[in-house]
Amino acid sequence: MKETTQKVEKVVRLEVLTPKTELSFGKAWPYAPAPEGREHIRLQSRYQLFIGGKFVDPRSKRYFPTINPATEETLAEVAEADAGDVDAAVQSARRVFDRYWAKMPGRERAKYVYRIARMLAERAREFAVIESLDNGKPIKLSRDDDIPLATAHFFYYAGWADKLEYAFPGRTARPVGVAGQVIPWNFPLLMAAWKIAPALATGNTVVLKPAETTPLTALHLAALIQEADLPPGVVNIVTGAGATGGALVNHPGVNKIAFTGSTEVGKIIQRTIAGTKKRLTLELGGKSPNIIFNDAPIDAAIEGIIGSIFYNQGHVCCAGSRLIVQEGIAPIVIKKLKDRMQTLRMGDPLDKNTDIGAINSKPQLEKISELVQSGVKEGAVLWQTTCELPARGYWFRPTFFTNVAQSHRIAREEIFGPVLAIMTFRTPEEAVEKANNTPYGLAASIWTDKGSKIFRITNKLKAGVIWNNTANMFDPSAPFGGYKESGFGREGGVHGLYPYVELR
Ligand code: NAP
Ligand code: MG
Repeated sequence: MKETTQKVEKVVRLEVLTPKTELSFGKAWPYAPAPEGREHIRLQSRYQLFIGGKFVDPRSKRYFPTINPATEETLAEVAEADAGDVDAAVQSARRVFDRYWAKMPGRERAKYVYRIARMLAERAREFAVIESLDNGKPIKLSRDDDIPLATAHFFYYAGWADKLEYAFPGRTARPVGVAGQVIPWNFPLLMAAWKIAPALATGNTVVLKPAETTPLTALHLAALIQEADLPPGVVNIVTGAGATGGALVNHPGVNKIAFTGSTEVGKIIQRTIAGTKKRLTLELGGKSPNIIFNDAPIDAAIEGIIGSIFYNQGHVCCAGSRLIVQEGIAPIVIKKLKDRMQTLRMGDPLDKNTDIGAINSKPQLEKISELVQSGVKEGAVLWQTTCELPARGYWFRPTFFTNVAQSHRIAREEIFGPVLAIMTFRTPEEAVEKANNTPYGLAASIWTDKGSKIFRITNKLKAGVIWNNTANMFDPSAPFGGYKESGFGREGGVHGLYPYVELR
């Protein structure tokens, strides 16, 4: 009898505690540090340009530092390519295109691309650590998403190299020539793979410009490509800032530009190459919505939101940066979201328990802070997690806003940080109207139990990729790309071959 009473007491105590879960969740329970080792990677103190199969000094002799955004320590110095270096890279890409690469049978090209894929898979840990050091993203993501996906892209496109006649039945696919490729800092190696793999599979040669703040994995990929014995000049890597990208885009010897980055720079590129014969694909910014209906699996949706906007510090082009939730469930969704956000661990990107890493650079942190302040000024209600921030490095707490009007800057502009704008809707029509009320059109997620509703809404959304009851899922066989100001052209899948071929 006594025992039973004690049990009942315990149950009652637990129930009494339940309303305070918000507080008890206030800090994620402590875990012992579990850092990924750095001993197995070797960073050089200086990195040269990769041109014509060799590592060479930049003509300017200028180098710039790349830093670890979690500690602000300098990781290495990286060569700054000027227009002359870019010219050398384009010329070497042209030479090998004319002499061998374009003429090589697809089955031979495939061997090289497979070799790159296999070597990348073997060295996945090394690349994951370097990516986390240079970019600030948690090792969990670089290890489980970035590097495996990059590898999968090389495997996938290697498979197409000798089967182009099946990709384009009844037609002959010829390579376009030299591809100038410019990529951003949010998925450095993955973006390099998205660009290089389809170009090589279709017989093009490449000059790639990585982002200024995250050049290291592309440079280690260059060393891997050298080891894979790819004919010199088929892939060239020129590091530098915007001016280097500009020199590449403007080079008359480039036949095709593939750009991933901001809409602002995308528009500059479109203007500068207008009137030339250069082909162009643009993968630009986004302001993608997660639309949650009353009948949605709420806990799954919460995980989808967390994954799509907070992991990777919101540095994701297709981040679900707007939450459009049906009014009836808004209070419970917001409550559950707060509880879940409080459990997110922020800190050392190399720690395997870390969920949220560092913001990639100081300017990016300033941009996020400025936009968040504008949200407060314009009258939205701010909520942030209470986790402790490391003393050094660039950090931003996972944040959301309620009371958001569609006219607020935080609802219209891409923040590219861990900041969510929450809005509500009553009818499906209102959800569609709000979701489409943006200059962007990259992605969207719909959360509902009803298949018919999924089809109805999906058909009305202007977004290049739409996920149902999930978010931010990627596969090399699935095309990715935008509508409206999110750009044009598709990467991934058979569609990803089109920009690199001329069909006869
Ligand atoms: P960004 O400023 O546009 O830079 C992208 C790349 O372009 C960088 O390598 C950059 O060099 C270079 N660049 C800058 N100015 C240039 C110019 N005038 N001519 C040629 N190249 C130039 O973008 P970001 O801030 O690095 O990346 C974030 C943006 O990328 C976001 O808007 C995001 O949505 C978008 N993104 C889109 C996708 C997609 O698939 N749609 C994927 C990932 C990211 P620096 O490194 O020196 O700036
Ligand atoms: Mg860096």
